[in-house]
Amino acid sequence: MSFERRQTKQIHVGKVPVGGGAPISIQSMTITKTADVEGTLQQIYALAAAGCDIVRCTCNEIEAAEGLAQIVPRSPVPIIADIHHQYKMALAALEAGVHGLRLNPGNIRKPEHIKAVAMEARDRNVPIRIGVNGGSLDPALYEKYGGLTAEAMVESALQEIAYFQEVDFDLIKISVKASNVPLMVEAYRQLSAVTDYPLHLGVTEAGPLPNGLIKATAGISTLLLEGIGDTIRYSLTADPVEEARAGRQLLESLGLRERKNVDLIACPSCGRAEIDVIEVANRAMRAFEDKKIPLQIAVMGCVVNGPGEAREADLGIAAGNKRGHLFVKGRNVAVVPESEMVEALVDWATFIHEHGAEAAIARVDTALAEREATKDRNALLEEKGDDANHSTEKIVEIRKTISGN
Ligand code: SF4
Repeated sequence: MSFERRQTKQIHVGKVPVGGGAPISIQSMTITKTADVEGTLQQIYALAAAGCDIVRCTCNEIEAAEGLAQIVPRSPVPIIADIHHQYKMALAALEAGVHGLRLNPGNIRKPEHIKAVAMEARDRNVPIRIGVNGGSLDPALYEKYGGLTAEAMVESALQEIAYFQEVDFDLIKISVKASNVPLMVEAYRQLSAVTDYPLHLGVTEAGPLPNGLIKATAGISTLLLEGIGDTIRYSLTADPVEEARAGRQLLESLGLRERKNVDLIACPSCGRAEIDVIEVANRAMRAFEDKKIPLQIAVMGCVVNGPGEAREADLGIAAGNKRGHLFVKGRNVAVVPESEMVEALVDWATFIHEHGAEAAIARVDTALAEREATKDRNALLEEKGDDANHSTEKIVEIRKTISGN
């Protein structure tokens, strides 16, 4: 299933296209001092490995700009310089060869400074993000609108666009981030109605995990599902690699980027579970973490319901009678000791990834595996019945209690 995306202009941040139907790109930001070239590059490599397409580094002092001059040629992904307050840092970052700039219109307000940067970026063919931030809005707009509103943030972006247009600069993308999710959603909706520049989505200062993850996902995914957004960043108080992973996971979950890693699904467990589902699922998660295997893999707590409920998965395992029952596309293929469930999943996933599901099914006796699964399923049903939580008996008891018998 796919949904319509809003048509936007396309710009390029280095080699990465943004907008105009390009795949939605994932961004993050380094938290090292940019002057620390080796430390910053290490973080950039880790971010790129985690699926990040574009990395932003702060350029807040001359040493940072000098660091960028060394970082840019060695980076595997395009680098954007983040600029607040000093427009001269933007000029220095352009000189360093960055692939993009982010300017905060709330912090650089003099029109001649804004236009000087735009002209230099225009001559070098480097895009600029107009990065409006609810926390640092131009005080004049704050006063005009009686506080922080979606309208005030949109007007801030439009003012900046007007300055850029005065000097014929249109390699623009825009963000209107706020830490308040409904406000941020409304600001992006309003902005997308009045401009077709590509939009960079984010909930600013979303906070530590897991709350930050939930807030950012709520805001970003609401907009993406409306077709709004061309590039995203999770602003988490965490290792930036978590931001890249979250971005990747969100886009893959929404079908907006091709799956690169395992999509691990697992049942929530219940009274019927034959294993510690949480522990096994977490172990499987770690085992697949660095493997680039784009399959959906299921960990299910019992063989009674597991294989049926996860029949759409490429591969899965369900527990029963101290054994793990492996199934491929819903067909039982093998039985392994419970202690080897995760290892078996990795082996089978690797085989399926290399040779396909049909080849995996063809190499085993599925009838034997099915008989074994049926045996364990029946044993469990006999032991716990169809009703693992004994609800029928409980309902009889409840009725007795209520009627006073
Ligand atoms: S019935 Fe089985 S598969 Fe479903 S939640 Fe319970 S343990 Fe998991």
